Amino acid sequence: AAKQTGEPVRRWTPALDERAGEFVRLGAEIRTGLDNEQFRVVYQPIVELPSGRVAAVEALVRWEHPTRGLVSPIAFIPVAERNGLIVELGEWILRTACHKLAGWRVTLGERAPDRVSVNVSARQLARPHFAATVAAALSGSGLPASCLAIEVTETAVFEGGQAVIALHELRALGVRIALDDFGTGHSSLGLLQTVPVDILKVDKSFVDNVTEAGRHTVIAEALLQVSSGLGLSAVAEGVETAEQAAALHRLGYRLLQGYHYGRPVAEPDFELTAAITTSG
Ligand code: C2E
Ligand code: CA
Ligand code: CA
Ligand code: CA
Repeated sequence: AAKQTGEPVRRWTPALDERAGEFVRLGAEIRTGLDNEQFRVVYQPIVELPSGRVAAVEALVRWEHPTRGLVSPIAFIPVAERNGLIVELGEWILRTACHKLAGWRVTLGERAPDRVSVNVSARQLARPHFAATVAAALSGSGLPASCLAIEVTETAVFEGGQAVIALHELRALGVRIALDDFGTGHSSLGLLQTVPVDILKVDKSFVDNVTEAGRHTVIAEALLQVSSGLGLSAVAEGVETAEQAAALHRLGYRLLQGYHYGRPVAEPDFELTAAITTSG
């Protein structure tokens, strides 16, 4: 049931650090891109086992640059963070994603995913009134707060301060908090004591070798135990093969995301994915 359709493979990824002039130029082009509607949002399914239902989607931004082609967010998000345009871009992504799910809830009814998960950068989270921005996006789209998750990285919340205050405010609204790339930071477990979290997104690096008995498998299992012990849900990221899905299912994972189930696209297929993992 793996879907190989989707995004063009042409991708432009510069060695940005070595090219300061290019960095500045790209920053200016983000401004133009915002004004000329060159950005769009795609959605990747997060599948629930054993049903194969698309329980949620993750919103991921895309930049269709008129001459550079499809520019990877890995290349332009850091630029937008540095020049501050991430705030405007991020608000647009948030509003777009909320509108999208609100629309699916109307057109698809029960087949619509329960939740859309939106990535938020450190700089957005650290701004005062971030939670008010989220509340505005929710009321503007009519999407219930429980249908939104905000994905933050460990580094974004590591410093504490305003970012953690914002997470508490989001929680109070009823928005879910997902800790992204979990396990790759330097204080993953420590953060769980101080930061309000609902969902752990277990990084792809632990999924890659989960079919072989070894360190990664032990860690993937331990992260799941931590998550269920704390009453959180765990999503395994970067699942590319049926074998990985089966291994994760055996470990107890119930929410999986990756190319095996679908690439990020404008309109994901919400039909039930064929039961891929059967054995317990
Ligand atoms: P992320 O939040 O960890 O997102 C997951 C990335 O892994 C996405 O790359 C997704 O397309 C990719 N992916 C999903 N399944 C698989 C798989 O099975 N195999 C492999 N190899 N990759 C998979 P993408 O869309 O290029 O985004 C890269 C990063 O850029 C994201 O990592 C996130 O940190 C950032 N990003 C993307 N969209 C946004 C956004 O709207 N706002 C912010 N602040 N950051 C974003
Ligand atoms: Ca993410
Ligand atoms: Ca991630
Ligand atoms: Ca990542």
